[in-house]
Amino acid sequence: MIRIAQPEIGPEEIAAVNEVMRSGIIAQGAKVAKLEEDFAKYCGTKYALAVSSGTAAIHAALHAAGIGPGDEVITVPFSFIATINPILMVGAKPVLVDVESNTFCMDVNKLKKAITKKTKAIIPVHLYGQPANMDEINNIAAQHNIVVIEDSCQAIGSEYKGKKSGSLGNIGCFSLYATKNIMCGEGGMITTDDENYAIAIRRFRQHGMSAPYIYDELGYNYRLTDLQAAIAIEQLKKSDRFTDSRQKNAMIISAGLKDIKGIILPTIGPDRTHVYHQYTIRITSDFPISRDEFASRVQALGVGAGVYYPRALHTYPHIAKLGFKTGDYPVAERMAGEVVSLPVHPAVTSKDLGLIIGAVKEVLASV
Ligand SMILES: *Cc1c(COP(=O)(O)O)cnc(C)c1O
Repeated sequence: MIRIAQPEIGPEEIAAVNEVMRSGIIAQGAKVAKLEEDFAKYCGTKYALAVSSGTAAIHAALHAAGIGPGDEVITVPFSFIATINPILMVGAKPVLVDVESNTFCMDVNKLKKAITKKTKAIIPVHLYGQPANMDEINNIAAQHNIVVIEDSCQAIGSEYKGKKSGSLGNIGCFSLYATKNIMCGEGGMITTDDENYAIAIRRFRQHGMSAPYIYDELGYNYRLTDLQAAIAIEQLKKSDRFTDSRQKNAMIISAGLKDIKGIILPTIGPDRTHVYHQYTIRITSDFPISRDEFASRVQALGVGAGVYYPRALHTYPHIAKLGFKTGDYPVAERMAGEVVSLPVHPAVTSKDLGLIIGAVKEVLASV
C-alpha cells in the first residue's frame, strides 16, 4: 500500500533525539528555544512559540488575542475539527463563511456579510497547503479592527505574494503532528510579530505563569519537550526539500490525470504557492461512480486514498446545536462529498506515481 502520509525520519532526527536523551534535559529547554528561533526566521516573523499541538496553538492564539465569551470568531465549515474547537474552548461563538470550490479556502466574497459588532477574530484555513485569499481577509479585518489568526497547520512554507504563511495575519498557527509536512509526533508552533501576543502565549502554555510561581491567570500545560523540538529542528531544515518533492509529485499526478471527465484537479489561487500537504481531487457527479466507491476501488489497488474531510464541521452535533443546519454551507457540504486525496508526500517514488495514476485509470476503465 502506498500510504497517504509517511513521516520522513532520517539519521539526523535519530541523532538529535539521542543527544537530548544523553543530555538528561528532556522537557522544554534549549532545543525548544532553538526551534523557536529557527522557526521565526523561516516564517519571517519576530517571534515563534512552541506548544504541544496545533490545537493548543489555536487555543493559545485566541486567548492571547483576548477572545472570550460574547465574542464571535469567523472561520470556515470545511476543515479539520481542530480549527473550530478552540473557538468553543475560549467560550466564543463560531461564525462560518463558506469555502470556494476551486481553492477549498474561505470565499472572501461571503466574508463581509458575516461580520458583526461582536466579530473579534477571523481564522482563515490554508487548507491542503495553499494560503487563503489573505489580502481581502486582511483588508476587511483592518476595517473592523479584527485579529487575523492563520490556521497554517497544513501549510508550512507556503507563500502569498512572496511572504510565508504564518506571517500573513496577526498570529500564525502550525501543527507538527506526525502526518504534517514537517513533524515531531505531536507539536505546534505559533508565529507573530506582536510582543504582547508572544508574552501572553508564553504565559498561557505554562499555567498562566509570568515568573516562577507567579500565576497571573488561568493557563494550561501546553509545553513542547526538547525531545520533540530536536526532531522538529531537523525537519525544519528539510522543509524546503520536502515541499519541492511534494510540488514535483503533484505536477506529475496532475499531468497523468488531466482531461478525465468528472475529476477536477487541484488549482492554485493567484499570488500564492501550494505546499501540497494533500493532493486533493474532486470526484463530481460527472464521474461514473461515487467518491466513496472511487476511493475504495483505488485503495483496493494499493493506493492509500484518503477523504479529508467527509463531513462539513457544522453538521457535527456539538457545532450543529449552536444553531447550524445541513444546507447552510452548500459548497462545504458538496466538497465533503467530492474530495479525495492521493499520496503526494516525499516518500512517494516515481514508480509509486506511475502506480497512483495507473490505479485511477484502471478504476475508470472498469466502470
Ligand atoms: C492538524 C490540524 C490542526 C490541529 O493540529 P494538531 O497538532 O493535530 O492539534 C488544526 N487545523 C488544521 C487545518 C489541521 O490540519
